Amino acid sequence: MIFETLLSKSELANTNNYINQLYDDNEDRISELKKEDLIKMVILTDLHIDYSYQEGTEPNCGLPQCCRIQSGWPKNNSTKGAGKWGDYQCDLNELTMTDMFRFVKDELKPDAVIWGGDSVPHDVHSQTFDEVVLYMNKTTDAFIEGLDGIPIFPTIGNHDNYPQDQIKMHLPKENPAINIWGPKWHKLLPDQEAIDNFSKYGYFSAPVTSNKIEDGSVNKIISLNNNICYQFNWESVVQFTDPGNMLGWLEKELDELEKVNVTAIIFSHVPNLDECNRQYGRRYHAIMDKYQTVIRFGVYGHIHQEQYQV
Ligand SMILES: [Zn+2]
Repeated sequence: MIFETLLSKSELANTNNYINQLYDDNEDRISELKKEDLIKMVILTDLHIDYSYQEGTEPNCGLPQCCRIQSGWPKNNSTKGAGKWGDYQCDLNELTMTDMFRFVKDELKPDAVIWGGDSVPHDVHSQTFDEVVLYMNKTTDAFIEGLDGIPIFPTIGNHDNYPQDQIKMHLPKENPAINIWGPKWHKLLPDQEAIDNFSKYGYFSAPVTSNKIEDGSVNKIISLNNNICYQFNWESVVQFTDPGNMLGWLEKELDELEKVNVTAIIFSHVPNLDECNRQYGRRYHAIMDKYQTVIRFGVYGHIHQEQYQV
């Protein structure tokens, strides 16, 4: 199957020269493109919001999560307590998150926001099932309220389930915590097909804000549940084929886009680059290779760094 995928690459992808061709084809369009014709997107990922953050508390408490009442207070005046807007040793507080949403909405004014997952704080030593559900519900409300009127495309992070990292996709709806908070995301999804796919296995596709595309073609954003191949998800050790038919579905989606000559943005929390190997990973990478002319770019979170790869 992997070889079949690679052998059936389009002629354009096989020439290895399609980027140059893309520039040639679009030369006139790009030079004429006015600023207001461009689509602006903001990516917010790995917010890890700590709703128990407390200003002035000890930021260096020796546990995975500090800056809380239970972290205590700095013992002498030379040590600074957790700041009003946050502390580099702790997770994001609610005040900064809310102000960031205000900035994005009122100042940046994007056409859409990509929400890259991992919204749950790092209190992994004491976190409970109910807390994960609560954090996800609260953060979803905060996104919808804070970015009111802006389309939001979400994806599931490895911290967004309980226990963290362990996300199953063999049978529909196998993840109890996601089953509880998941319906909150339905209003972010474009149609019933996306809701069904997301409810069962955590992936979906949606049209990118298409109001600015004159010829009526619909470019798509494809949100994958790549947690299935994350190295700390024990499922990645036992799954060899295609849990949740995500790769079969992805291939079909990209094939349809290729046929009508439009593009896709691939989007997931875990990048699945070096760590995703074996049969599943090789097929995933073969699909990325085959449809390199369709996929305009990929957006990922998880690593907590700003990186661009060409
Ligand atoms: Zn992560």
